[in-house]
Amino acid sequence: LAEGLYCIGCGAKMQIDHKEEAGFLPLSALKKQLMAEELLCQRCFRLRHYNEIQPVELTDDDFANLLHQVSKTKSLIVYVLDLFDFSGSTIPGLPRFVGQENPILVLANKVDLLPKSLKEHKLKNWVQGQLKEQGINPVGIELVSAAHPKNLDQILDKIDTLRDGRDVYVVGTTNVGKSTLINQIIKSKTGVQELITTSRFPGTTLDQIAIPLDDGQSLIDTPGIIKKDQYAHWVTDKDLKYVLPKAEIKSRTYQLNPDQTLFFGALARFDLVTGPADGAKAAVTAYFENNLMIHRTKRQGADDFYAKHKGQLLTPAPADENVDFAKYEFKINEKTDLVYAGLGFITLPAGIHVQAYAPKGVGVFLRKAMI
Ligand code: GDP
Repeated sequence: LAEGLYCIGCGAKMQIDHKEEAGFLPLSALKKQLMAEELLCQRCFRLRHYNEIQPVELTDDDFANLLHQVSKTKSLIVYVLDLFDFSGSTIPGLPRFVGQENPILVLANKVDLLPKSLKEHKLKNWVQGQLKEQGINPVGIELVSAAHPKNLDQILDKIDTLRDGRDVYVVGTTNVGKSTLINQIIKSKTGVQELITTSRFPGTTLDQIAIPLDDGQSLIDTPGIIKKDQYAHWVTDKDLKYVLPKAEIKSRTYQLNPDQTLFFGALARFDLVTGPADGAKAAVTAYFENNLMIHRTKRQGADDFYAKHKGQLLTPAPADENVDFAKYEFKINEKTDLVYAGLGFITLPAGIHVQAYAPKGVGVFLRKAMI
């Protein structure tokens, strides 16, 4: 039924099967709209009638194509990152994609999830250090909370200064909060009526939303790239709340003996193999969604414990019952974060030996301690 139809809002090919992808419209709505003259995908419909943007996902290839188009323009790139899932929200090779010449402004989102006591300059320095490792030297770094925006006007002013008459492309992976942020921008720019433009990248069916700026330029929302190493892709919709926290994360510290194990629901596992000195305890601090149960047990027998309690005492469990777990081993030489990409992180002290388990494909790695 949707064959050969295109959304007049964004130009995406209409489809009725994949809610998260471009051009989606539920069958019932499609039937209704066929009577009318205008055919809008659900995302554009919501945008036009409720001034609300919905996220849309793209495959890696589509995304690479899209970013490559951006590199041919002269624009300001607004790169939205998720402070709680920093690595999971980074776009590998971004500068190459968007063009070395185009300046990048980083908006580090979800700052509301981090401890209020964390100093802004310290966090910005940390972000800068992490970006440097990826070869990104941004023209600015701003901490934001799209969910609870306080400094939106200031950020919009900054964008306006930095763009210097050029278009603005907003890029980010899925779940970084890009739609939430753009919705806030739309809300704050009252009086904007026709938000949707029919412009799109030539030769592709990728949709984009252009928000007109005062001087005839546009702020362009690009669809979010999917990064499979994020936990969000490994849990059911019902359990997403455990990987997309809404409130400030309360740190949980454990004094672990060697050969003790922590389970994070049934989603991840941490083993202390040896402590800082022979037989000594290690203080590890976990930063995970507050309602995610952390269960401490003996390392010996932890496999059986998991098999027995998965989905019950240990909840939530991965969406795929038969998912394989991968095991990682680390020697910690200085205060370091052990990251389960998109689920959370554990700050570890120096001088310990640890193991970590997560579904194969989820990113598990060490990084400079954030907090
Ligand atoms: P997109 O895929 O990048 O467009 O991300 P969304 O805007 O759909 O947001 C993904 C999830 O993160 C949703 O559950 C949002 O409620 C949540 N979110 C977005 N911005 C923030 C924020 O500033 N703080 C917190 N705590 N959550 C946020």
